[in-house]
Amino acid sequence: MAEWEAVIGLEVHAHLKTRTKMFCRCPLEYGAAENTSTCPVCLAHPGALPVPNRKAIEQTLRLGLALGCDIAEHSVFARKNYFYPDLPKGYQISQYEAPLCGKGALDVPGGTRVGITRAHLEEDAAKTVHAGGATGRSVGADYSLVDFNRGGTPLLEIVTEPDLHGADDADRFLRLLRQTIVELGISDAEMEKGTLRADVNVSVRERGETGFRPRWELKNMNSFTFIRRGIEAAIREQVAAYERGETLEQSTYDYDPDTDRLTVHRSKEEADDYRYFPEPDLVPVEPPAELLESLELPELPGARVARLAEQVGLDGAWELVSTGNDRKAELLVGAGVEWKAAAALAMNRGDFLPENAAALARIVQANVTREALDEAFARAATERIDAEPYLAQTAVGDESELVPVIEAILAANPDQVASYRGGKEGVLGFFVGAVMRETNGKADPKVVNRLLRETLRVSK
Ligand SMILES: [Zn+2]
Repeated sequence: MAEWEAVIGLEVHAHLKTRTKMFCRCPLEYGAAENTSTCPVCLAHPGALPVPNRKAIEQTLRLGLALGCDIAEHSVFARKNYFYPDLPKGYQISQYEAPLCGKGALDVPGGTRVGITRAHLEEDAAKTVHAGGATGRSVGADYSLVDFNRGGTPLLEIVTEPDLHGADDADRFLRLLRQTIVELGISDAEMEKGTLRADVNVSVRERGETGFRPRWELKNMNSFTFIRRGIEAAIREQVAAYERGETLEQSTYDYDPDTDRLTVHRSKEEADDYRYFPEPDLVPVEPPAELLESLELPELPGARVARLAEQVGLDGAWELVSTGNDRKAELLVGAGVEWKAAAALAMNRGDFLPENAAALARIVQANVTREALDEAFARAATERIDAEPYLAQTAVGDESELVPVIEAILAANPDQVASYRGGKEGVLGFFVGAVMRETNGKADPKVVNRLLRETLRVSK
């Protein structure tokens, strides 16, 4: 049996975070009422002329710099012609031969270096809503409505080389790219809101083979889970077909998460011919050197994963960075907190001043009450804190210390025990109060509650 290797490339689309659309001044507001954010430019009235959004160009350039792309000295917008109801002009303004960002790469720590073919800027189409009949699907719908609010949203398209070789590989790359985009502040990149989506190209070949076989394109994937499962399904179905001796052709597929199968969306005969040509209504974009120098980049997540991996291993590093607050988690780790605890604290306890990391680490490692921990983190966000007063508020979290206290209280209050067992559950509060008094408020009420219930159930 042949050994197969998957070859995967991605086309990732992200809505840029600008106040207005790509070529007009219509505001972009998520969730606005349908067709309220339109104008003659984005509705393609005759004579209306586009004006490019400077912010969108800058954001695209920042991403290009972050991915080490060749930045174009002379970039042009192009018309991509096709007919569809969500495209009032009959063409989309995109980029073709001269994108803003050319070749680059993104290193996935612990994984592959993924080549970036290009990153360009375009406008999104409007949104079609299918209604009546088989609601939500074009086939069988009674009628369709178009919401032009989305039409003209600045859209960044990033195309990778076919450098990925499996679902895990693609998943890590995509998460890293998403995190990079989010941290650059250029897009919310939320799949569930549709501000990030991907087309996934998958083919397989026998190990050692150098050329590429026909690829299947999974269109408009908008969930990390479905992307992973779609890739696995495509690999499985292609390998099975080749092993049956079949030949395959290049096609576009839809992945159906309910059946975990792929169905042909569009086959090769209908392959697109967009008749691209330079957009005559827009001048070329020539980013000046001063502009590129002014676009500062933060430390990027890929670099931070690589650095953290040396301290906490690769899995820990990925987990820390995906908390979105790994700079704070890293400070806690540096002060001696175990990384899993640091990740949870960074996620759930939010922010603190960096100079408080050492004090917080001491408090976290001591067994302080929940109240003390809450207060320490609340104060640490705005002022410099000292660990000592919190360390004094030690929690009695140890069950072996609590059980004798509970048993003594139950023994001293036989009437209340009887009424609890008789069904008066409210009496539990009386016991919790008694235990808290006895421990000077240092017990964890949750633990006390559980231990009380257990003891009252078991002992007679
Ligand atoms: Zn408009």
